[in-house]
Amino acid sequence: MSTNNSNTGHSNTAPSPKVAEFIARQHKMLIGSEWTEAVSGSTLGVINPATGEEIARTPSGDAQDIDRAVSAARKAFEDSEWSRMRPAQRERLLWRLADLMEQNIEELAEIESIDNGKTAIVAQHVDITLAIDFLRYMAGWATKIEGRSVDISIPYMPDAVLHGYTRREPVGVVGAIIAWNFPLLLAVWKLGPALATGCTFVIKPAQETPLSILRLGELIQEAGYPAGVVNIVTGDGAVAGDALAKHPGVNKLTFTGSTEVGKLIGKAAMNNMTRVTLELGGKSPAIVLPDADITKAAAGVATGIFFNSGQVCCAGSRLYVHKKIFDNTVADIASIAEGMTLGHGLDPTVDLGPLVSQKQLDRVCGYIDDGLSQGASIVTGGGRAGDSGYFVKPTILADVDHNARVVQEEIFGPVLVAIPFEDTDEVIRLANDSPYGLGASIWSNNLSEVHRMIPKIQSGSVWVNCHTALDPALPFGGYKQSGLGREMGAEAIEHYTEVKTVLMSV
Ligand code: NAD
Repeated sequence: MSTNNSNTGHSNTAPSPKVAEFIARQHKMLIGSEWTEAVSGSTLGVINPATGEEIARTPSGDAQDIDRAVSAARKAFEDSEWSRMRPAQRERLLWRLADLMEQNIEELAEIESIDNGKTAIVAQHVDITLAIDFLRYMAGWATKIEGRSVDISIPYMPDAVLHGYTRREPVGVVGAIIAWNFPLLLAVWKLGPALATGCTFVIKPAQETPLSILRLGELIQEAGYPAGVVNIVTGDGAVAGDALAKHPGVNKLTFTGSTEVGKLIGKAAMNNMTRVTLELGGKSPAIVLPDADITKAAAGVATGIFFNSGQVCCAGSRLYVHKKIFDNTVADIASIAEGMTLGHGLDPTVDLGPLVSQKQLDRVCGYIDDGLSQGASIVTGGGRAGDSGYFVKPTILADVDHNARVVQEEIFGPVLVAIPFEDTDEVIRLANDSPYGLGASIWSNNLSEVHRMIPKIQSGSVWVNCHTALDPALPFGGYKQSGLGREMGAEAIEHYTEVKTVLMSV
């Protein structure tokens, strides 16, 4: 990292011919086995956030298209080769899809980079590698879905010989609505357990980033999934997303996005008694205790907030450092931030790409200005970088009031607020003083103190000496306004199945 972050020059940014050809296509969405336009014929533009230019158009689906997709998924669930498939065959199909993703990983990474802005290196080695590992992890679950056998003691049937057991059955048609920050990975987090358990799937990608999901649809067909098992409807959230959330033919909704929209999805789900899981926003604390290794903590905290330009639901966006080491730690993080190169995601020398959209650029810069107006001071960064594309300098704000919006609200950009503390009780109180509860990290080698703190922290994940470390076998999700339910791990399987109780008098 040699260049400072005012550099947003674009060199080495031409996509490969294969990706250029894919992006230039007339894009369609996948319903049943057909690639189709929206019934209305309308389309939405896709913008390259590094340049602000429109690069493609995708169908703008609405309620009619959602209805077609849910019908195709219902048919596949109830009456198709898929509904009769043995678990071991589902396992093999998931492996085949993972293999195809691996064979096409560079192409998928380039598409993700051009569509979302993130660097192709991160897309390949983080997003898509994780997605492939996750599919293989979920493939293993297909043959391990089990019920229980239960000894029965019903008092009013004393003479009966009873056999009681439970079955875990696929919940049915799954409706997935996802955000734009990790498009393929978020899609696969939902697709993996749905396909492992034998559900069928309708996904509405974020309107900002539909392209990699459409390419995934081609790989799903190539893998050999029967028609209607996976359906992709592109379109606007308030139109296609809303129609999917409200569709009575959907058995389970799984959503990743903002808390505001998550509440709408939750209410729509309750109206139909649709099962629902919500992965929502966060304002996760990173807590540096006085004994921490400052160099390691600074590097970890910098990655925890600036990775993916801060557009990470569990980004460590609130930094609490013991006052004894506050100045040195914050100075080290600032120095890392100032060494980051900003630029086009296809340039291999770039550390941070742009934010995803003009809307996100305005939102993040608006929060920085708001923080300054409420008395915060800038340690480094402080606004937009360059004048084309949606780049924001990695920013650290200090001298912030804990009630300020920049401390309480999710910014979803490369903005860290740094706050000193004096003792452990105080920092636990501050860390929990948030409507969110997605993740938290503690930086220390004092394991006794760390163990005492972990149960008191209100968040779905606690990382020690790392931040945003995710494994397919570990559940991920939020306390408080950060969501409902868990993704990944055995917990995900529970959310994609219903429990059926069987009692036989034999
Ligand atoms: P968003 O809630 O605006 O959009 C998310 C998805 O919901 C998009 O596909 C969008 O089209 C759709 N949508 C929008 N309005 C809708 C409506 N009325 N009905 C149905 N669907 C609708 O969120 P965003 O701005 O795209 O993403 C950023 C947010 O997502 C942040 O708050 C972030 O923390 C959160 N997020 C959470 C996780 C997690 O796992 N917890 C992961 C990534 C992002």
